[in-house]
Amino acid sequence: LAAVQRNVRALVTASPIEAVSSNSSKLPADIKSVLFTADEVRDKVAELGQQICKDYKGKKLAIIGVLNGAFIFTADLAREISKELPDVQVDFLRASSYGTASESSGQVAVQTTSDLGRWEEFHILLVEDIIDSGHTLARLGKVLSAAGAQSVKVVALLDKKGRRRVEFFPDYCGWECPNEFVVGYGLDFDERFRCLPYVAALKEEAYAGSGH
Ligand code: 5GP
Repeated sequence: LAAVQRNVRALVTASPIEAVSSNSSKLPADIKSVLFTADEVRDKVAELGQQICKDYKGKKLAIIGVLNGAFIFTADLAREISKELPDVQVDFLRASSYGTASESSGQVAVQTTSDLGRWEEFHILLVEDIIDSGHTLARLGKVLSAAGAQSVKVVALLDKKGRRRVEFFPDYCGWECPNEFVVGYGLDFDERFRCLPYVAALKEEAYAGSGH
C-alpha cells in the first residue's frame, strides 16, 4: 500500500511534461526522445530574455520572428523581454528555402508582413527556431540591414553548428542541437508536433523517405 501511495503522490506532484518526459511510453508514437524539457525551455527563454534586456536597455528594440517555426519562441521571448523593456515591438516575416528538405540550396525567398522601412530607427533582433545550413539567417540579415535598421542581431533557440554551409554565428543561442531532426516548441514535421511543449528528436523511421 505504501508503494502505491508513493506512486500516486509522484504522479500528482509531477507536472504533465515531467510525467511525459520521464516515461518514454507516454511520448507520441513518432517521437524518439525529449532533448529539452518544457521546464528547461522555459528557463532558457527567461535567461536569454534577461541577457537581451541588459544589452538593449535604452534602445528602441523590435524583435522579428521567422515564421512558422519561431512563432512560439518569439511570443515567449517577447513576453520575457517586455518585463524590462515594455516598448519592445514585435513583427514576423516568412523565409522559405529552396532545395530538398534535407539540403538547402541557398536560395531563400523572404515575405514580409509590413514595410521594412518602418524599422529604420530600431535595433532589430531576428528570432529563429533553429539554424542549420545558415542560408536563411545569412539572407535575412542582409535584407534587414539593407532596410536601414540601426543594427541587426540574431537569437536562435537551437544551433546545428556541424551542418553549416555558410559561415554564420548567432549573437544569442539557447543550445547546440545534436544532428537529429527535431520537433516541438514551434518546430514541425509536415505540420505535426508544433505544439509540443518540449523539443524532441523524431524517430528516423518517421521521416525516412520524406527527404528530411
Ligand atoms: P537553414 O537555412 O539554416 O538551413 O535552415 C533553417 C531552417 O531549417 C529552420 O528555420 C527550420 O525551418 C529548418 N530546420 C532545420 N533543421 C530542422 C529540424 O531538425 N527540425 C525542423 N522541424 N526544422 C528544421
